[in-house]
Amino acid sequence: MTIKVAVNGALGNMGKTVVRAVSGDPDLKLVAAIDIKGDGSELGTHVGLGELQIPVQNDLAAALKQSQPDVLVDFTTPFAVMQNIETALKLKVRPVVGTTGITEADLETIRQWSQQYGTSVLIAPNFAIGAVLMMLFAARAAQYLPHVEIIELHHDQKIDAPSGTALKTAEMIAKSRAKIGKSQVEELEKLPGARGGNLENIHIHSVRLPGLVAHQEVIFGGIGQTLTIRHDSIDRTSFMPGVLLGIKAIMQREGVIYGLENILNL
Ligand code: NAP
Repeated sequence: MTIKVAVNGALGNMGKTVVRAVSGDPDLKLVAAIDIKGDGSELGTHVGLGELQIPVQNDLAAALKQSQPDVLVDFTTPFAVMQNIETALKLKVRPVVGTTGITEADLETIRQWSQQYGTSVLIAPNFAIGAVLMMLFAARAAQYLPHVEIIELHHDQKIDAPSGTALKTAEMIAKSRAKIGKSQVEELEKLPGARGGNLENIHIHSVRLPGLVAHQEVIFGGIGQTLTIRHDSIDRTSFMPGVLLGIKAIMQREGVIYGLENILNL
């Protein structure tokens, strides 16, 4: 069965990459493109694919009603993503969401919507398989080296900080490691924020610079040793195998799936 796909945020960096990936997959059919800047112009001209005969629209609900996709891929902004998810779920279109900035409380709301509208949804803070492995390895390492800090590095156009990947890594580490006592040192932060954000006693530091794509280091410290686990997405195509897999997997799954690791056979 061919899966019909709509892409929201289709004129963004990730959206354009998703459009190219979906167009090249024989099991998928791109049926709609939506972006806040959509003006009805031909999608193909924006992504260098020639004539796709798909106009870029700016009204998500109208585009979904008209094109009736099975799946909506969303790479937009943290400000719009919750509304986009609700719109798709209400119309029984399964969202595959890469947009970051979704909180624990948001996830709870999404679980209620998914149940209410009887539609499944996949949310993945990181669609790169290497990043998923980094998170799993970090959670495992934390069982033996519980003292850990995270440095995430992204391009300077990224809105949310810390990254969804860093938050998810910290959540996974916090679940897997034994409780550690509070530091004996009374810290004096001379510049507010110098020690980064703190999630369950794990400090997270966010770097934003032009030239970067998406990178993360998880640094563990033990007696006389450190261990660094690092992942680098050097190109946005790194996320595409995960996105394509996610689109296919959500057709077979129920409820809310949070994290690509839950559909990979690791
Ligand atoms: P981007 O280049 O800014 O693209 C976002 C696109 O969505 C832009 O064209 C933007 O238009 C448009 N947009 C904004 N609000 C919208 C709305 N309400 N409805 C429809 N379109 C809207 O950003 P990006 O680099 O592609 O990243 C997009 C999101 O994906 C971010 O949250 C980022 O953190 C996340 N991301 C996730 C992964 C992952 O693996 N999960 C990987 C990379 C990035 P304007 O330019 O006019 O705002």
